[in-house]
Amino acid sequence: MPWFAGIDRKKINWCPTINLERCTKCGMCMNCGKHVFEWTDDGPVVARPLECVVGCTTCRTLCEGNAIHFPSVSQLRKTYEANHVWAAVKAILIRKGKIPTEDKTIKARVTG
Ligand code: SF4
Ligand code: SF4
Repeated sequence: MPWFAGIDRKKINWCPTINLERCTKCGMCMNCGKHVFEWTDDGPVVARPLECVVGCTTCRTLCEGNAIHFPSVSQLRKTYEANHVWAAVKAILIRKGKIPTEDKTIKARVTG
């Protein structure tokens, strides 16, 4: 995914790093649905960092050795703010019909 909500994915600092000294070789990270990791003779490596879903931390949550780390969430939120990502994602979701338009949201709040 080279682009994310209209901005270059490379500008979004979000992907895992592995501390192989802590890695128990449990293999759980290889379960990532985006195939971010690859297995080597030394254990897992981050082979496709830009495929990591922005904001996801599942591999870190389930890592047996607590060996996976991510950049700071507050920095990620600052990037979102600076690049108007929330507004861009909302516009995409409205266009796809996944959430109601602004008008309908307001109407639902008033009548609901
Ligand atoms: S955070 Fe999610 S998408 Fe990214 S590598 Fe881990 S499991 Fe895969
Ligand atoms: S989930 Fe963690 S401990 Fe398991 S193989 Fe991956 S990095 Fe190593």
